[in-house]
Amino acid sequence: MARKPLVAGNWKMNGDIVANEQLLTALRADLGRALLSRVEVAVCPPYPYLGQAAAWLGGTGIAWGAQNVAALPNGACTGDVSAAMLVDLGCQWAIVGHSERRQMAGETDAQVAARISICKLHGVGVIACIGETLDEREAGRTEAVLGRQVDAIAAALVDPVHRLPAQRVVLAYEPVWAIGTGRTASPEMAQAAHRFVRERLARQGYRHANATRILYGGSVKPANATGLFAMPDVDGGLIGGASLVADEFLAICRAAAA
Ligand code: PEP
Repeated sequence: MARKPLVAGNWKMNGDIVANEQLLTALRADLGRALLSRVEVAVCPPYPYLGQAAAWLGGTGIAWGAQNVAALPNGACTGDVSAAMLVDLGCQWAIVGHSERRQMAGETDAQVAARISICKLHGVGVIACIGETLDEREAGRTEAVLGRQVDAIAAALVDPVHRLPAQRVVLAYEPVWAIGTGRTASPEMAQAAHRFVRERLARQGYRHANATRILYGGSVKPANATGLFAMPDVDGGLIGGASLVADEFLAICRAAAA
């Protein structure tokens, strides 16, 4: 099953108008159509900069997306941004269930599933994040945690209300201990987790499990990207820190396209 790799940059709460412009200019200049025919690329800036991303990336083939989305369609949700608003801003993607949201905002599996459902309804592609903490890995609970997280996601995916083609549903395996720490899962560790996730999706009745792209995230850098992306079930990366440095992000995109 050939799955086109996706590299998505998660800018987190970083950037400003000037720095963004430099970064977006570099991406626009160096991510040509030939490269984009082999790897899909998206950037996910903070909400206030989505309009800037749209202005710089519109028509280039590089997509932009949000780092979260409200679980409800509209209404009394102060501080939230709805899926319909993301569509208005041309977003093709929304990250959901990032471990920073799960840890800092107490997001539950049920809320992650609700965000997926709303994205499906509005045709916003989802990048649904899962991953175990260091304590969970050391206690031998990695598969139990991933299984629980995937089951909640699969329940939202198998629901028939669906306006998303399979290629717009993406999972990102991000071991929490690897995010922003400089520690990366070895390619073999990533492959084992990705394989487990794909099989679990299938076991839960999601018929597109084989076509679903599963990204790896957690301290991906140009130096480790090639090894990770060579694994059969690693279909690209969700990139945090390195997505803020044009040369590093571009090198990671090229590694995914190779
Ligand atoms: C992330 O924020 O999703 C991430 C993977 O960050 P980093 O690449 O910095 O570890």
